[in-house]
Amino acid sequence: MPVDTLITHGRIWLGKDDGFAESLAISDGKVLASGTTAQMEALAGPATRRIDLAGRFAMPGVCEAHAHLSSYGVGLLRDVDVSPDRVSDMAGLLDRIRARAAQTPKGGWVLARGYDHTRLAENRHPHRSELDAAAPDHLVWLTRTCGHMAVASSAVLAQAGIGHNTPDPDGGSIARDAQGLTGLLAENARFPVMALLPELTVADYVAGIEAGGQDMLRYGITSHMDAGVGMTSGMTELLAYQEAEATGRLPLRSTLCLMGDKDVNIFDEARAAGLKPQSGSDMLRYGPVKFFTDGSAGGYTAAMSRPYEGTTSTGLFCLSDAECDALARRVHDAGFQMAIHAIGDAAIEQVLNAMERAQTANPREDARHRIEHCGWLSAAQMARMARMGVWPAPQPTFMYYFGENYLQALGPERSAFAYPMRAFVDAGLNPSASSDCPVTPMNPFAGIANMVTRKTRTGVVIGPDQRLTMAEALHCYTAAGAFATHDEERRGRLVPGQFADLAVLSQDLFTAEPESIAATTCVMTVLGGEVVWRAEGV
Ligand SMILES: [Zn+2]
Repeated sequence: MPVDTLITHGRIWLGKDDGFAESLAISDGKVLASGTTAQMEALAGPATRRIDLAGRFAMPGVCEAHAHLSSYGVGLLRDVDVSPDRVSDMAGLLDRIRARAAQTPKGGWVLARGYDHTRLAENRHPHRSELDAAAPDHLVWLTRTCGHMAVASSAVLAQAGIGHNTPDPDGGSIARDAQGLTGLLAENARFPVMALLPELTVADYVAGIEAGGQDMLRYGITSHMDAGVGMTSGMTELLAYQEAEATGRLPLRSTLCLMGDKDVNIFDEARAAGLKPQSGSDMLRYGPVKFFTDGSAGGYTAAMSRPYEGTTSTGLFCLSDAECDALARRVHDAGFQMAIHAIGDAAIEQVLNAMERAQTANPREDARHRIEHCGWLSAAQMARMARMGVWPAPQPTFMYYFGENYLQALGPERSAFAYPMRAFVDAGLNPSASSDCPVTPMNPFAGIANMVTRKTRTGVVIGPDQRLTMAEALHCYTAAGAFATHDEERRGRLVPGQFADLAVLSQDLFTAEPESIAATTCVMTVLGGEVVWRAEGV
């Protein structure tokens, strides 16, 4: 087979059980062989190109197992960024909203995203009266970093028909204080507002997928699963991925996890149109189906068996047991993989029961159902997952960015066993790793740092027993991510036959000081043997 490209003079980590090599030979976008540079040079032909790594560390391209590229991308191009990287207090947040309002025609929307109330100096959510004052002539909608809660200005609440006497909907809550509505809406209570938001087109999403996908390449991410296609704009999002691929605007390998929820559902329509499980091309594939069973731990809405600290609340269920069972059966019986959002142990229990009933009624081999996040669970539930062949899709970046928030919400004992990567690995549950971007920044090195140190962004150690070795951590972010969508034969390791997808890094992660891991950068990204991104000067 002709060798198209040699990657030479590197320190290339091939995979957890595959060791290191200095050089790779690539043919037709896939790894052909690995060895010393001299050995690989012997395979070269007259037309072989060379990429000289000059001694740098490289690894398989990051497989981001759960992120939201389409919504991240459109947000990148549309929303005011009020994430903790941009604003540290309420005045700064409101300044950004005021500035956007000044550029927006009166009566138009000002959409903002990414605030984390625990990282604002005031340690509280913005109030609708503050949004009203910052943008009195506009419609303001401000989504929290978790994506499960948002604050609406008074004009938005009025348009959505949410008033002082509106009861909390099933699976949602409308926050109130002594003056009435605060503007904060959680989970299903947001839906009346979301129905009013300006409609996004296929072209908007293609632009977002392209821009957001370029960001992913800059972090060495060469494949991702979009964990909820259809969540905001229905089939438009699926069509946008297809359009992006057809027009060469899909920057990285994408596996689509379709929404198949009670209200938000494109699964039935896509299936009626002929979509088959685990089908697609090298760049765009169709994978699992998603629905939600609870909220987020940081937002006190994940469904727990015991109350949140200092409260009597145990969070929210999105579905009744019967509804959860019915949704699970629909996916399972259609031959698709489930990827069900469940964060708290009570929601995880509901999901495990539903998966078990689906599997008992209709046994399927290696259905490989997943639990998305799977953050707070007991050792007994973990053993049950191992017996059932149900796989966790946790986010080490949640511990990195939200660890302090978790200590406050759920206390030190429960937090020490939150997102328990060591226990997952030891139970044979092959955990993937992911950022849930835009819930946390997509930076995989923050997640890798947390997996090996269990330190938060500010250096607080939570649950040191849950540390992984570097090889285990990298496995979670590569091969395990591929396994999570049945792609372990195609990507995740740099072995013959797999895609030549690589991330070349600023430092060798195996010899790096633990404190420096989160600041690692990707200096070059290779997709199918082609350099698709490189840092200046590399
Ligand atoms: Zn998500």
